[in-house]
Amino acid sequence: ADFIVGLTGGIGSGKTTVANLFADLGVVLVDADIVAREVVSPGSEGLAAIVKHFGADILLSDGNLDRSKLRERIFDNDEERLWLNGLLHPLIRETMLKKCKEAQSNYVIMVVPLLFENGLDRLVQRTLLVDISPQLQQQRTMARDDVSAKQVQNIIGSQATRAEKLSKADDVIDNQGEISALKCKVDALNSLYLKICGNT
Ligand code: ATP
Repeated sequence: ADFIVGLTGGIGSGKTTVANLFADLGVVLVDADIVAREVVSPGSEGLAAIVKHFGADILLSDGNLDRSKLRERIFDNDEERLWLNGLLHPLIRETMLKKCKEAQSNYVIMVVPLLFENGLDRLVQRTLLVDISPQLQQQRTMARDDVSAKQVQNIIGSQATRAEKLSKADDVIDNQGEISALKCKVDALNSLYLKICGNT
């Protein structure tokens, strides 16, 4: 597909929930979190570069990347963090674009939590924000994960503000209501996207 919709939203906003409704309609999803793991999986070019740079003790005994060790190595170390980002960001970007290109649906949904923060909105034709209040973000994230209010607040604080995201997004799904209200909104956006990408 040549038409890519970038789907984003803060922690606990409902990106996965919304993306799955598009998938039910036959839209192919390309998920940044999955691609980020793929580019450092055993046998990958990314993992080879990390081992060359940090040494083989950055691996677990099963050959997988030791993520907590890597986090320690880049924590408080700008030079190492920049090196890692310089390796991973282009790899993730290229892999995602390749998957979008190969996808056999009329258009593709790229699910990217930090779409605006990392400038990936420049790679897509249209942006869709799943929007809820910070209060609901905290409530729903705490109900889903074993995290404290403080941890959720820190993550919200590290992401673009609600106002910034609202001002940048082409389309917005308000997910402050019931999950059952989402289907109808997704159907309407699907019709719009099919129209825009020229397939209806
Ligand atoms: P993250 O980026 O943190 O992984 P996300 O944006 O993908 O989150 P989801 O996992 O889809 O968000 O939703 C967060 C939680 O809120 C989930 O447990 C989900 O079931 C729940 N949820 C989503 N939408 C609603 C809703 N409208 N009402 C109540 N709960 C909801």
